[in-house]
Amino acid sequence: MDAAMGMAKIANGDLPDGLIDRLKAIVGAKGWVTDADALQPHVTEPRGLYVGRTPLLLKPSTTDEVSRILALCNSSRVGVVPQGGNTGLVGGGVPHADGGEIILSLARLDRIREVDPLNYTLTVEAGCILADVQAAADAAERLFPLSLGAEGSCRIGGNLSTNAGGTGVLRYGNVRELTLGLEVVLADGTVWDGLNRLRKDNTGYDLKHLFIGAEGTLGVITAAVLKLFPKPRDVATGLVAIRDLPAVIELLSRLRAASGDAVTGFEYIARIGIDFATAHVAGIVDPLAKRYAHYALVELSTPAPDGDLQNVLERLMAAAIEDGLVIDGVIAQNSAQAQALWRLREAVAESQKFEGGSIKHDVSVPVSRVADFIAAATAACTDAMAGIRPVPFGHVGDGNIHFNLSQPKDMDSDAFLAEWPRINRIVHDIVVGMGGSISAEHGIGQLKREELRRYAVPAKLDLMTRIKHALDANNIMNPGKVL
Ligand SMILES: Cc1cc2nc3c(=O)[nH]c(=O)nc-3n(C[C@H](O)[C@H](O)[C@H](O)COP(=O)(O)OP(=O)(O)OC[C@H]3O[C@@H](n4cnc5c(N)ncnc54)[C@H](O)[C@@H]3O)c2cc1C
Repeated sequence: MDAAMGMAKIANGDLPDGLIDRLKAIVGAKGWVTDADALQPHVTEPRGLYVGRTPLLLKPSTTDEVSRILALCNSSRVGVVPQGGNTGLVGGGVPHADGGEIILSLARLDRIREVDPLNYTLTVEAGCILADVQAAADAAERLFPLSLGAEGSCRIGGNLSTNAGGTGVLRYGNVRELTLGLEVVLADGTVWDGLNRLRKDNTGYDLKHLFIGAEGTLGVITAAVLKLFPKPRDVATGLVAIRDLPAVIELLSRLRAASGDAVTGFEYIARIGIDFATAHVAGIVDPLAKRYAHYALVELSTPAPDGDLQNVLERLMAAAIEDGLVIDGVIAQNSAQAQALWRLREAVAESQKFEGGSIKHDVSVPVSRVADFIAAATAACTDAMAGIRPVPFGHVGDGNIHFNLSQPKDMDSDAFLAEWPRINRIVHDIVVGMGGSISAEHGIGQLKREELRRYAVPAKLDLMTRIKHALDANNIMNPGKVL
């Protein structure tokens, strides 16, 4: 987006005279931050890939304040970067380095507006922390199934704006599929009350889907109606060592059919991930005595209290061992053991930083191509750089692999990270060649903007640009992200 496309150019550097004071007046004394130290975590992307600058962070506490802020920024042509928990991994929630944008934090818009257990819905404000949303559902004897590693600090508005996935997608879908309605403030300050609690509503375009996954480029989500589900009453969790990569996908397919589609989690972990997790994260142990190349964390669950899932899982695993798909495994005997297995899975992600630089790919392919993808990408990357260490893991039940690569042991970390674009190209070409996506979960932000431009079909980019222009003619909403 730029002036050549009919957009107003956002001023570099300073904000217009007097604007900061007018914005501060909208939110009152508790609603703004200008201190450089206090701003630092808000301008820094979690992995430090992007460090931006801003003179002002605003923390409105009502939708009306958000509306007045956007109206003023729109008329002043000042860019606004919405921010939730700032756990996003593509540089979408931090400002650019020129200091010409403000951050709009949703942190104080954090009320649970309504719990409706009979309608199986929850209406929440965008600043609610995901773990608090889960807890509110739990208190009403319901389940809100979105779950991911950052759930203690990410906020539901950020989850919606990135169409977050996580570990429950296989059964429940992405957050897009968990949303019935939204309240959104548009770039010019108009409030769209789309807090629909209906399961059926075919009255024209389903506008909420424009804002879900838009990464703050089309408006600010201020509240949402979320779908709830019956709480699982019976859960069985296991970690199994699997013969080879094709057997991982074969096992998933079998388990879905043979368990009555009770599979709610199916996470792939390569051996190197277990080595990293046990070496670097306190309290993490490998529950199996022997070492294997491929593992899956499997979870079955059902709301039926007498589902007898532990026996079902044991029986299915015994059959898979007999057929040679599974080589070894453990099944948790209680919830503490199940949690330890999930902690091991989460530790794979957090332990990689202790092995030096890592080049990451959050990609997806059709589930049936996952094994081919991991094999092809591993071969291509090891050919491209001697000693590079692929660490594939993730939600293979959704075809989503975090295909991360740790640096060769003796290589300089900066020199390795300088290879990021070359390695990206190799992996993304394979992904796209298999009909996959270069961003399965985390979005585009700044990190993948050029990759989107390269791989998206022109008609899609053109439609996205026209929608952006229609909703945000002055390009104030998170400028320079996604497009
Ligand atoms: C340890 C860890 C594990 C993760 N695991 C997963 C995972 O399993 N699955 C997954 O999908 N993601 C995962 N993520 C990344 C994921 O995108 C975020 O954790 C989360 O969804 C972002 O929420 P947030 O509140 O931190 O958003 P932020 O980082 O603050 O913002 C993300 C984007 O949304 C925009 N935005 C934020 N709030 C609003 C709003 N109210 N209105 C409009 N735009 C807004 C921002 O401008 C930005 O572009 C993980 C991240 C970490 C650090």
